[in-house]
Amino acid sequence: MKPTWIILILLALTPCVFATEDIVLRRDDRNIHLSGDVVVEASDGGVLMLTADGFLWAIQPQELLTRETSRLPFKPHDARALSEQLLSELPADFEIHKTIHYLVCHNTSRPYAQWCGSLYERLYRVFHNYWKRRGFTLHEPNFPLVAIVFKDQRSYEQYAASELGDATQSIIGYYSLHTNRVTMYDLTGLESLRAQGRSNLSTREINSLLVGPETERTVATIIHEATHQIAFNCGMHQRFADIPLWLSEGMAMYFEVPDLTSSRGWRNIGAVNRVRLSEFQARLTTRIPGSMQELIQDDSFFKDANLARAAYPESWALAYFLIRSRPQQFLAYLQTLSHKQPLGSDSANERLMDFRSAFGQNLEQFENTFLRHASRLR
Ligand SMILES: [Zn+2]
Repeated sequence: MKPTWIILILLALTPCVFATEDIVLRRDDRNIHLSGDVVVEASDGGVLMLTADGFLWAIQPQELLTRETSRLPFKPHDARALSEQLLSELPADFEIHKTIHYLVCHNTSRPYAQWCGSLYERLYRVFHNYWKRRGFTLHEPNFPLVAIVFKDQRSYEQYAASELGDATQSIIGYYSLHTNRVTMYDLTGLESLRAQGRSNLSTREINSLLVGPETERTVATIIHEATHQIAFNCGMHQRFADIPLWLSEGMAMYFEVPDLTSSRGWRNIGAVNRVRLSEFQARLTTRIPGSMQELIQDDSFFKDANLARAAYPESWALAYFLIRSRPQQFLAYLQTLSHKQPLGSDSANERLMDFRSAFGQNLEQFENTFLRHASRLR
């Protein structure tokens, strides 16, 4: 008889293969056919389905028309299959620039797409190394990471309107938990130079144009959205899990800080985010004491445009304080959040409990220490 450990090792080496399911759902007056892996079955009959292109579909029970198990195993698209799908979906002038982890789909100039691709890869490497050194090892993504870059605002808005609705004009780039893609447009104005006849800008010329205060928000937006994408694809958070918004936004703003002294536009991590700091400090005099608890316990501050203007900078300041001054506790908190399952929903009490178990019971005292720290930042 074979010893048990051999069987255990064999079991551990057997790759997880999920059977595909075929689903037909009814949404917006049309039938949608999907094949994929059902990752969550909600108790009310709803399901969360992952399709081979990396989309996650949250399907309500009343939308579900049919559901059948197929004989085929579930297999995520590789870069080639995903590229084919993207090119068939996007307008005809789109091309794909492939890097190790990314598919940059663009109708911009090739040098601009290459500049984006190298920025993405640099962030990917730095983000993984940064957390590994602090004890959180992230994994490779299950899908190639997709970034769609439009050459101008008009074509971006046409594409994004179906996802963003009325907010399209005020959002210059976004990461979608549903499609798993980052979408944005060229914010530098380089592409309009190209439209004026400068069609052969070299990478060097682009780099020199991309150093300057006007590119600050461009770099910050690219890095911000890409940080969300990496965090949700490499094991820091699970998509559709109940991750506090102050944390995921604070994390993205911690990384977004551009470095305009570098010809590549972004290099350092953990520098003070000047834009967020001045927004935060400008609001300190009118800030309501004790409001940190509300920021932590639910996401309501982010759902009101006025309150969100204060919630973003405070989320950056809080993440900055925790990452720099409470690294071990912050790591424990991140680990707790990484185990949150898709479609879960935490009550205000559960959110506060997670926070208190990482950073201590006395929130009032904690808030005072945090504010002292943040008001001294320069
Ligand atoms: Zn964000």
